[in-house]
Amino acid sequence: MTNSSIWHPFTQHGLGEPIPQVARAKGAALYTADGRRIVDAISSWWVTTHGHCHPRIMAAIAEQSAQLDQIIFAGWTHEPAETVARGLRDLMPDELTRIFFSDSGSTSVEVALKMALGYWANTGRPRHKILVLEHAYHGDTVGAMSVGARGVFNAAYAPLLFDVETLPFPHGDGATTLEKLTALCREHPAALIVEPLICGAGGMKIYDAAILAEMRQICARYDVLFIADEVMTGWGRTGTLLACEQAGIVPDILCLSKGLTGGAMPLAVTMATEPIYAAHLSEDRARMFFHSSSYTANPLACAAAAANIAIWRDEPVIERIGKLAERQAKHLEKLARNPRATNARRAGTIAAVEIEDAKGGYLSDLGPALLSRFREADLLLRPLGNTIYVMPPYCISDEDLASIYTGIEDAVESLRPQPEM
Ligand SMILES: *Cc1c(COP(=O)(O)O)cnc(C)c1O
Repeated sequence: MTNSSIWHPFTQHGLGEPIPQVARAKGAALYTADGRRIVDAISSWWVTTHGHCHPRIMAAIAEQSAQLDQIIFAGWTHEPAETVARGLRDLMPDELTRIFFSDSGSTSVEVALKMALGYWANTGRPRHKILVLEHAYHGDTVGAMSVGARGVFNAAYAPLLFDVETLPFPHGDGATTLEKLTALCREHPAALIVEPLICGAGGMKIYDAAILAEMRQICARYDVLFIADEVMTGWGRTGTLLACEQAGIVPDILCLSKGLTGGAMPLAVTMATEPIYAAHLSEDRARMFFHSSSYTANPLACAAAAANIAIWRDEPVIERIGKLAERQAKHLEKLARNPRATNARRAGTIAAVEIEDAKGGYLSDLGPALLSRFREADLLLRPLGNTIYVMPPYCISDEDLASIYTGIEDAVESLRPQPEM
């Protein structure tokens, strides 16, 4: 614990929660300054894919740091960015021909929204309405909040958020969602933005690939841009490189971040199809894409991303993910037998359950109670309200994975049923 002036993200300092100091990390393990070994069951907030301090990624950053630290990216380029761009063109769907760099998932979403509106403005058919999915999360900047679910997280900022049209989360065959999407598409919105297959921060809510495919087709039919926010789902999380693959679809705009550098450095890309780029291509400077951040395509971050892409190319990452998914399925099956664990579900390497709770919601009292049990058990788990999910780095050992589930069973056991209020 530190006596610090740091104001931490998504942290209520008034509750006096301990804030452990981490000194180093390796694979799926975190080592605190006071000598504890903690299993990272949520990949340090969904970013660490292959494992912490992956030797190839660390070496790439070290090597790059001796060459070039930072360079303006407006009108300039560098080898690490070019390597990443070539690598992404090889790995990602052919239709996504253009790559715009930024520095976080939220900014990649802001860029996607601006590209969509820019496309319509520059092709002489201005459109601005954005369609979103219930329970969506796309980041914490104002535009990203606007296209995400409204709630306690953003109530104070609601007057700043722009209006969107929200589709109900798809249940069953998704008929209600698809009908509403069709009706809204007739009103010529600019785009639909979705988290493919699973709404992450909204509670690890999973929907069918066939519904995702249908949503994409409806958008195509009505000439509405389809934006896939794969910031969390990308880089193998759901069992395939992209979640969109499972629906056999390619979006018009794709957002990638988190695992882009293997989780080592902040970097994001927004990939777009040729027509979206072409709409901005002109001899008229007023039609250029007006977006940049100081650290766009930072060379050190790009070196990490290039190493991540090389790992995907050279190593059997998909097999590793498949095995983790199977191991997760086995543990989840057992956990689901616990009478207090309901709605067990899984998308690739991500497993989730709900713990029965009278109150529910993100501010459920269960969350903090569970969190402190997990902390005592040397587990980095961070329930979303009463939803516990496990999303470990792909390299996690059988022993560490088992210890996560033992820790969850123990924590759930230790919580007495709460009296009705
Ligand atoms: C985490 C996340 C974001 C935001 O990414 P940041 O890097 O935290 O800004 C956006 N979309 C999805 C789906 C995410 O999971």
